[in-house]
Amino acid sequence: MVEPLLRVRDLTKIYSGKGHRIVACEDVSFDVYPGEVLGIVGESGSGKSTFAKVLAGHPAYVVTGGTVLFEGNDLFALAAEARARATSDAARKGCDVWLTELVWREFYQQILANHPHVATRCFRPEYDALGWSGTDAQFDAWRAGQTGYPIVDAAMRCLDATGWMHNRLRMIVSMFLTKDLLLPWQRGERWFMQRLVDGDLAANSGGWQWSAGTGTDAAPYFRIFNPVTQGRRFDPDGEFIRRWVPELAGLDAKAVHAPWEGPLAAAGARYPRPIVDHAVQRGRCLAMFKAARGA
Ligand SMILES: Cc1cc2nc3c(=O)[nH]c(=O)nc-3n(C[C@H](O)[C@H](O)[C@H](O)COP(=O)(O)OP(=O)(O)OC[C@H]3O[C@@H](n4cnc5c(N)ncnc54)[C@H](O)[C@@H]3O)c2cc1C
Repeated sequence: MVEPLLRVRDLTKIYSGKGHRIVACEDVSFDVYPGEVLGIVGESGSGKSTFAKVLAGHPAYVVTGGTVLFEGNDLFALAAEARARATSDAARKGCDVWLTELVWREFYQQILANHPHVATRCFRPEYDALGWSGTDAQFDAWRAGQTGYPIVDAAMRCLDATGWMHNRLRMIVSMFLTKDLLLPWQRGERWFMQRLVDGDLAANSGGWQWSAGTGTDAAPYFRIFNPVTQGRRFDPDGEFIRRWVPELAGLDAKAVHAPWEGPLAAAGARYPRPIVDHAVQRGRCLAMFKAARGA
């Protein structure tokens, strides 16, 4: 039997004794074995840097940009080599982002291995009691890209046609399903697995639970994307929307993100009005989480 190199829960004890709160460590308790990659990820203030500083004192670790990596994994070595060879700050930054993404992958694989219930249930058990109230008809509209929210619909149609969706869009549509339509993340997770070319149980469950606010060091439940603002920020000219939602092809960059605000008929009446009101659903979502938390 291989002995662990490090028991993360021991570090938690040390630091909580000194008055620090390390959310990631408290919530995720696991051991690190030779050859494994350890990723520390989380929201600002979750304890990543503190944890990284502790591990940096351990001879077997390499620390890059707040991310702690254990040596001995080929992909990581490749990314580190790419970084060493990079000739500009932009290239080095790109390598750092790549490493960070790989860390997310490893992180979720460790979570699934050590907490297999995340495949079907919430990482945080208190959220298994959430009173999801969305309907089958709303789920069908989400799946078909017919919600009336252009960035959501464009992303869902892109997924259907290509089996692919950019990470930002995965975050937007998953948050919309859970926090606007108030449907359980498991339904979206299963749909993604049926459609994605890169469907992966660990990353998918991790990504869905991050968005739903039910996972490890997830987006807090009160962080709720506004789908219109997200569309304006990440598809400012509306190019992606027009490509996948041809009903809106005639609208300009401003109107294409919220067609119901302008003359919808001119845009092509075939496109639905929003199936829910974001502001109303936001309030319902917060109430649903508060009820489950007993607040
Ligand atoms: C709701 C939701 C569902 C997701 N479902 C999946 C899934 O089924 N399969 C999957 O591989 N990724 C999933 N992701 C993570 C991420 O969207 C994809 O890995 C990413 O889009 C891949 O893009 P890329 O190939 O350009 O990789 P890069 O951005 O270049 O990253 C390199 C590799 O790192 C890994 N990676 C990157 N981001 C993440 C992440 N957030 N979590 C875990 N691993 C990551 C992937 O293996 C990826 O190929 C999901 C994210 C969300 C928010």
